[in-house]
Amino acid sequence: MKNLNAQLCETNTKDYVVQATAANGQVRALAAVVTGVIDEAVRRHQMWPLASAALGRTMAAAAMIGAMQKGKEKVTIQIIGDGPLEQITADSDGEGNLRGYVQNPYVDLPLAENGKLNVKAAVGNGHLWVIRDLGLGEPYRGGVPLVSGEIAEDFANYFAQSEQTPSAVALGVLVGVDGGVQAAGGLILQLLPEASEGIAVMLEHMIRDLPPVSSLIDSGSTPEDIIEQAIGDLQPKYLHRLPLRFSCTCSRERCEAALIALGAEELEDLIREQGRAELTCRFCQEQYLFDEQELKNLQAQARKTRDRESSEK
Ligand SMILES: [Zn+2]
Repeated sequence: MKNLNAQLCETNTKDYVVQATAANGQVRALAAVVTGVIDEAVRRHQMWPLASAALGRTMAAAAMIGAMQKGKEKVTIQIIGDGPLEQITADSDGEGNLRGYVQNPYVDLPLAENGKLNVKAAVGNGHLWVIRDLGLGEPYRGGVPLVSGEIAEDFANYFAQSEQTPSAVALGVLVGVDGGVQAAGGLILQLLPEASEGIAVMLEHMIRDLPPVSSLIDSGSTPEDIIEQAIGDLQPKYLHRLPLRFSCTCSRERCEAALIALGAEELEDLIREQGRAELTCRFCQEQYLFDEQELKNLQAQARKTRDRESSEK
């Protein structure tokens, strides 16, 4: 367990988000390389390539949206569609912690007409939700219907509709022949309120001419290189660089709390029928095992909680 925790905290130095402004503050740019983080997610979930591409794109966007948050403020992205992947979930925060999973990671479909993985068909029709938890009680939840299912366009539509910020979004994942992630990352360009019409047109051209971000990353580009390549002519000024890592908040204590919350009777059934409990974190696949004696101890705690609650009524 200790080794795994050490592994979770390890930072891959190549994975980070950089934020910049350009054109004298008319444009905000974010670029991310997340190859190591996505490869770890894919390995933990033993995902098939289509799920790897969909989750990688979503987590790259989550990393950049998270980088716009302050410190512990959390962002959760949910893409819920009627395609076979069912649901994609990614969490991030302002400290570079990233995690995510796909409801059904074992999806295989014929390639799209352009010869690429058919993410659109795997996602289907549905909604994109962005949930921001600023630690002030009720989280802020904004959502838009999916317009494409290819994910990048869906985020661009989210920024335009839900946050009134015209944006261009590019996301890319290159899955290797061995199923590992060879390159993953993204770019977000946003027009700030004082942007002129001329800048908007210029950005459109610059984005159209940009090679796929996954190819740029595969050939060794850093997030700064991606921004230079996209909008180098607009004199980007780099503000903030945030290292990224795959990191999960699950723990044995949280599993214990979840088991206690089942209640004494449910735990009694579990002890009688299985004599043990095995909990798997859906975000990171970490397994937590509880034997009969541990379950009995938790059951005793559940009884105590129940007695205390009923005496308070
Ligand atoms: Zn976990």
